[in-house]
Amino acid sequence: MAGNLVLLLSVIGYLSTPDSAELWAGFAIITAIWLFMFSMVSIFLQRRPQRKERPKRFLAVGAHPDDVELACGATIAKLVDSGHEVRIMVMSQGENGGNAPRRIREAQRGAAYLGAQSHSVQDFCDTRLSESSNDMVAAIEQEITLFEPDVVLTHSATDIHQDHEAVHRAVMRAGRKLPSILCFESPSVGHDFSPKFFVDVEKYTDIKVEAIKLHSDQRTKPYMTGTRTKAIANFRGSQVKQKSAEGFEVMRLVSKTVGDF
Ligand SMILES: [Zn+2]
Repeated sequence: MAGNLVLLLSVIGYLSTPDSAELWAGFAIITAIWLFMFSMVSIFLQRRPQRKERPKRFLAVGAHPDDVELACGATIAKLVDSGHEVRIMVMSQGENGGNAPRRIREAQRGAAYLGAQSHSVQDFCDTRLSESSNDMVAAIEQEITLFEPDVVLTHSATDIHQDHEAVHRAVMRAGRKLPSILCFESPSVGHDFSPKFFVDVEKYTDIKVEAIKLHSDQRTKPYMTGTRTKAIANFRGSQVKQKSAEGFEVMRLVSKTVGDF
């Protein structure tokens, strides 16, 4: 519109003062170019700015040194690759199911392999975690206060392993003020385990298999094989029309945690 006005003024000027026609024409062209550039800059500035989301913090809490890798190792590797911060907290050293010092070392290697920024192993009594319920809650509360996680991942209430169930209860109590808690799929979840949130992990299943292999102290357990791990991932993937997935039960989940709604 403004360009047309300038052109009109130029024509009027040409007609009224023929001697200055070249001057008017030059003025019109320069003004039109300037207006065009101004319009382009305005359009650019009016575009919605690209929002940069801050990395999110995920705290994974397991009962034994290999639990987190087995249950959600692929998701953790994917979260780390996406720039998020992951901490792993293990509530026992697994001394009744293997060699504790060795299991601790293997857990640290597994967490490092997945890319977790932090890994800690508590020393609550393996197979008897329910007897340390209040102390576990206090330890998890302390970690939550320090880390301020956006999401906590832990065992399911359906899990039939007594330690897993005890950790679930402790996390629910310690995380009572948190907006998002998801429950992962350990090998010992019961038939009632029913995931409603899935993470596509097609590119991360092999990483999960390798992280589980690092727990050689537990290598004779039937659920430690790559075949079993991939079968579960394929099954969960089929439930959401993906090649491979990890499934989670949702205790609660706020929308900003999982993206734009
Ligand atoms: Zn376990």
